[in-house]
Amino acid sequence: MYSKRIEKILKAKKISIGDGILVKRGRVAFEGALMPRHEFGDKDCLVIKLDDGYNIGIKFEKGMEIKNRAVSGAVSFSNAKGNVPAKTGAPHPKIKKPDQSRPTVSILHTGGTIASRVDYETGGVVASFGPEDLVGMYPELMKIANIESRLLSNIFSEDMRFEHYQLMAKSVSEEIEKGADGVIITHGTDTLHYTACALAFMLRDLPSPVILVGAQRSSDRGSSDAFLNLTSAARFIAETDFSGVGICMHESLDDKSCLILPACGTRKMHSSRRDAFKPIDSKPIARVGEKIEFMSDYRKRDENRKLKLKLGMEKKVGILKLHPNMDPKIIDAYKNYKGLVLEGTGLGHAPIGHGNEKFFNNLKKLARTCVLVMTTQTIYGRVNMNVYSTGRMLLEIGVIPCSMLPESAFIKLAWLLGNFKKDEAREMMLKNFSEMRQGF
Ligand code: ASP
Repeated sequence: MYSKRIEKILKAKKISIGDGILVKRGRVAFEGALMPRHEFGDKDCLVIKLDDGYNIGIKFEKGMEIKNRAVSGAVSFSNAKGNVPAKTGAPHPKIKKPDQSRPTVSILHTGGTIASRVDYETGGVVASFGPEDLVGMYPELMKIANIESRLLSNIFSEDMRFEHYQLMAKSVSEEIEKGADGVIITHGTDTLHYTACALAFMLRDLPSPVILVGAQRSSDRGSSDAFLNLTSAARFIAETDFSGVGICMHESLDDKSCLILPACGTRKMHSSRRDAFKPIDSKPIARVGEKIEFMSDYRKRDENRKLKLKLGMEKKVGILKLHPNMDPKIIDAYKNYKGLVLEGTGLGHAPIGHGNEKFFNNLKKLARTCVLVMTTQTIYGRVNMNVYSTGRMLLEIGVIPCSMLPESAFIKLAWLLGNFKKDEAREMMLKNFSEMRQGF
């Protein structure tokens, strides 16, 4: 709720949260959608979302003009009874009547910075926006599609476990079953590429688009990337015939375009930049700018394709980064593991010569019970274990070379061991699932 004097004016002018308004103070005028007051916001300060997506606060002054803006396609909300979020201190905006001519996009929220705000008491970022809050903050979404919104969890992505992937996959299936034309998953950025890859494996024969979206800056900050990432994902679903799993994040530091990136060939390459996500040894699927341009092949939507869930994930799978001075005893920690991804050096090397024989012997012993997969910590480039004799020694004990990102190899191995017999899994690990790299 705003202050009594503001509420009185809004009531008299029949303006509700989400309506297009024009605020004039002296000779300066602002136009945009009226937003709910933020929990910590000044009651006498109107918050409006400008057409470029940024929110501004305008301090109420005597003589200030507030008008209902007759914008075509203005978004309208109704105040849903009993649906008031605990923290925003504002009526909970709820979307009115779906428009039959628009596609339906379901947004599944899992948490992360995109669903967070700055806590002005501590200066930290805390997870807090509910799903309807996020839609309420981005009313533009409703101009693109009919939005359904569901909260699955409210956690940072570093806390994700395989159960969360399974919940997401099941929820995607439910949304498609209910008639959604596509699904957006809002997610923390730290491990977003692991989740995208897991969903690409779990959602077999996916007939529709599933796009993961995160934000490097919390949604309540002026510099947030959430607006462009979310609206680009919604446009991509609404305006194209793509099916499969993709990631939608900023292409560069400006607010001009987003890339749709492949589920298993993408990595977070910067801790804070808004364009942190890069395709690695793969191409982006599309650019969403003023126009949408495809940049690689993709699988088209097909309502006749029936989604099948393959949800198994073997938990006893790990990643081990190899480095100089390895302690052979480290291998003992993996003795009950079913699979281990080695992040080797260079072309896929491990310290196994010149005083490191014990490390090799321990790896050899582990290889009898555990599927060992070699990737490279160079991130870019292929694994080739035939160039040096040490690589060949590793191949002989059964280490599988895998030219995939270590994170993607980890997800692929856990998924294969969770759904197939060990020998089948070994064979499939060698198979190039290039279609999965692109997310279909
Ligand atoms: N640590 C957060 C997370 O991954 C950061 C973010 O959302 O960007 O959930």
